[in-house]
Amino acid sequence: MLQKLILLGPPGSGKGTQAKRLAEKFGYLHLSTGDLLREEVKNGTELGAQAKTIMEKGDLVPDDLIVAMIKSRLSATDDGVILDGFPRTVTQAESLDKMLADAGQGIDRALLVDVSDAEVTTRLLGRARIEGRADDTPEVISNRLGVYKQQTEPIVDYYSGKGLLTKVNGEQEIEKVFADLEAIVAG
Ligand code: ADP
Repeated sequence: MLQKLILLGPPGSGKGTQAKRLAEKFGYLHLSTGDLLREEVKNGTELGAQAKTIMEKGDLVPDDLIVAMIKSRLSATDDGVILDGFPRTVTQAESLDKMLADAGQGIDRALLVDVSDAEVTTRLLGRARIEGRADDTPEVISNRLGVYKQQTEPIVDYYSGKGLLTKVNGEQEIEKVFADLEAIVAG
């Protein structure tokens, strides 16, 4: 069974939902940087205060803050981990490799939940009306997608170049996407 996994995908790909379910199924730790940051904002921490306006604009929180936030959690476990929302830049991916290598570990696989631009835009605009998340307004959505293309998509090539990438069709029913991911993780 694969132990250290990354779920990749654009905003609105459903990777958060899938990450949570996979973690439950395999008893892995689910580390979502989006959830962790929202928690920091809610608790009014210094990091939360720094992250709040950045997140509201749909921009990325600086790499050093994210790496510090994830490092303490990652080093606390030798078990299975599903990373969701991290890494989001090539710099973060390199930091992650170093962090794991220092502990004699490495990423086993990066799973891309593949969804077209048109589909994620439709989904995010729909979700904005239902959930009212602060970063789900049309302007912020368009910025988040642009940020994904520019800053996050290059890591797809980063993992593909290392032979670690597997794509799953994210435009199927949620259950089918889950079944595909589950089969890959189970090996
Ligand atoms: P999404 O729906 O875009 O996948 P997330 O819940 O993963 O949203 O993240 C929400 C916001 O938190 C991002 O738009 C960004 O501002 C910030 N964030 C989350 N993870 C990272 C990261 N690894 N690096 C920088 N910023 C991050």
